[in-house]
Amino acid sequence: MATAKLAPEQIHEKAAAGSQTESSNQPLIFECSVRGKMGVDLEPAHEREPRGAEILGPDLCRDDLPGFPELSEPEVMRHFLRLSQLNFSPALQFYPLGSCTMKYNPVVNDELAGLAGFAALHPLVPAAMAQGALELMARLEAALAAVTGMDAVSLHPAAGAQGELTGLLIARAHFRKRGEHRGKVLVPDTAHGTNPASCRLAGFEVVVAPSNRHGFLEAAEIRSLLDPTVAALMVTNPNTLGVFEPEILEIAEELHRNGSLLYMDGANMNALFGVAQPGQMGADILQLNLHKSFSTPHGGGGPGAGPVAVKRELEPFLPVPRVKRETDGWVLDYDRPDSVGRLRAFHGNFAMLVRAYAYVLALGANGLAQASQLAILAANYVRARLRAVFPPATEAPALHECVLTHDLEQRTGVTTLDIAKRLLDFNIHPPTIYFPLVVPGALMIEPTETESRATLDEFVAAMKRIYAEAEKEPETVKQAPHSLRLRRIDEAQAARHPILRWTSRGSG
Ligand SMILES: *Cc1c(COP(=O)(O)O)cnc(C)c1O
Repeated sequence: MATAKLAPEQIHEKAAAGSQTESSNQPLIFECSVRGKMGVDLEPAHEREPRGAEILGPDLCRDDLPGFPELSEPEVMRHFLRLSQLNFSPALQFYPLGSCTMKYNPVVNDELAGLAGFAALHPLVPAAMAQGALELMARLEAALAAVTGMDAVSLHPAAGAQGELTGLLIARAHFRKRGEHRGKVLVPDTAHGTNPASCRLAGFEVVVAPSNRHGFLEAAEIRSLLDPTVAALMVTNPNTLGVFEPEILEIAEELHRNGSLLYMDGANMNALFGVAQPGQMGADILQLNLHKSFSTPHGGGGPGAGPVAVKRELEPFLPVPRVKRETDGWVLDYDRPDSVGRLRAFHGNFAMLVRAYAYVLALGANGLAQASQLAILAANYVRARLRAVFPPATEAPALHECVLTHDLEQRTGVTTLDIAKRLLDFNIHPPTIYFPLVVPGALMIEPTETESRATLDEFVAAMKRIYAEAEKEPETVKQAPHSLRLRRIDEAQAARHPILRWTSRGSG
């Protein structure tokens, strides 16, 4: 099993015994197929729903799917469960992927999202028949507004990046309404890649705002970049170095004096619950990543949820429809002439909203505050215990994540990528690497509040051991991973010549 915990000695034995080559020949489900095998269908014929062919007529339906694999139910079960265990996931491993907040996703969230009243609710039912769901949305909006110190929230955006785009479209609509032509957005050099991309999508020109050598923005620097064409500054706080922007209030003041908006990327909200409110820092627009700070899953790239929060003056521009309370119940309000319109179908990834609301209710204000305090403690613990070998990129105190560096590449040829690959042999998902871009060879570590001290100690021990290996036997690190079914992927080949279609082994 790829996920079993192995001592490093066993890892070498396993690699030497060639288990990795043998197990990488995991057959595809098509290759397991045996003609005539099938699962059991217990449905009595007279009670079953009419099949497609009976409704549409036989000419519109195939009676055979060419190449459809035929297996028994237990075989299908084993096949997919085995595949799922080849993955790394926060359900199985420590997953300190910086910036992504891979905290534990409580099972109770899934249980509540699975309640028939939520899970089986058709998105087109009239509002009168969806009162509970609409009330949940209104309550979640209120909770997110309270925790961020903002005035109004839309739950529509399906990802952090879509929340950014929504927020920037709101900024654009705001300036258009005022008859101002502001085409530029300032984006710090430490920003997440989605920030400049969202600016371009929303039709803005990106102007890079340099951070200082401590990794934060200076108000004087921002002032020098301001002119009447600047629509906004897009700032992540704490920033992607895990450092709180100490001049944020002066920066907000400079922006507002210039008639510009402060957009805050709220993906790092996990550091701020009960500690500080973006609304109090002068943020006008902010997106939240429910799949980060609010414990909804990142699973397989989604579905995510990136609600956008604004100050009162910007509320008219939020996407339609808005959930609104009228005397006889909750309604969906489409009559909003200044709205940026619809960002996606229906009302966001609703099941994620249920999960996030469950999380907020389970933790309450005190629990959320404690989560942030523990997340900050965990990051500082790792930073302090590793600093002798992996010094932090900045001396500014860390919040919920820390960015570390090392000198191994110059001295031993072992790169950050090699370290990341070697961590897999210790059954640990690597941290984010080579990000933020301003720190060469960066290792960006975000332990989150849901990890025990014992897990953090194991991580520290693995990192120290890898450091020692890099000095004594660098090839062990450079050839890693040794214990997984696949070793290094040829990333250039995969990008240039992707194989997107399975063809049977015989036919090449
Ligand atoms: C994750 C992240 C984003 C993008 O969020 P997605 O949900 O992945 O689209 C933006 N900014 C920061 C700082 C992030 O960490």
